[in-house]
Amino acid sequence: MSDTDDLEVVPLRAFKDNYIWTLRNHRHAAVVDPGDARPVLDYLQRERLELCAVLLTHHHADHVGGVAELLAHRGVPVYGPRGEPIATLSQAVGEGDEVEIPQLGLRFRVLAIPGHTRAHIAYYGANSLFCGDTLFACGCGRLFEGTAQQMFASLAKLAALPDATLVYSGHEYTLANIDFARAVEPDNADLLARAASDAEKRSRDRPTLPSTIGREKQTNPFLRCLQPAVVASANKYLGARASGPVQVFAAIRQWKNEF
Ligand SMILES: [Zn+2]
Repeated sequence: MSDTDDLEVVPLRAFKDNYIWTLRNHRHAAVVDPGDARPVLDYLQRERLELCAVLLTHHHADHVGGVAELLAHRGVPVYGPRGEPIATLSQAVGEGDEVEIPQLGLRFRVLAIPGHTRAHIAYYGANSLFCGDTLFACGCGRLFEGTAQQMFASLAKLAALPDATLVYSGHEYTLANIDFARAVEPDNADLLARAASDAEKRSRDRPTLPSTIGREKQTNPFLRCLQPAVVASANKYLGARASGPVQVFAAIRQWKNEF
């Protein structure tokens, strides 16, 4: 049996709505964006797993805050974006770099996806995408350090991945995002179907994640800035005609902030 045969991705909850994605096999685990050490340490102990790596997507405290305490228990490599202030980082990576986790038989490609923060990255491999606060189910991250142009390009890069790619985002924001998406595209039948199935999951306290790139392309307004219905809604919000897809994106991102 190879190490990847029994790979599982488990969501550990932290704070109000963060997910610490935990990649594990029968013996080892790696965690993505451990904002809090406690849920990770509890899980590792309960499942008798050995931590082997930490992957970070960006520097915000709710994504990196638990790293120092995890390292106090076990020294493991900490991967994260080159060019962001993360004191616990040991392996700074950027676009095109590869991250290998031999204990799990995994290899990820690093994608630079700036916009939410200046040097935000994603990890892509094993048909999975760990994209932090850039792409959410039916939404996208706020523009704290980057421009609309950057975020638009980052989302386009993710949208170009295969449709079957599993999307593991950093937060459970899906139902609120769907409410906004329905305001942008009230007649999108895929979106209506998604609203029903994701509401049902949440009613059972289940995660709506992972999503897929294909589902996001059908329902996420931030990936649909060329769709006539999205352009029309952006124009209505602006009270003017958007000059192109980046301005459409900027308009709906602004509108979402006020929604
Ligand atoms: Zn963030």
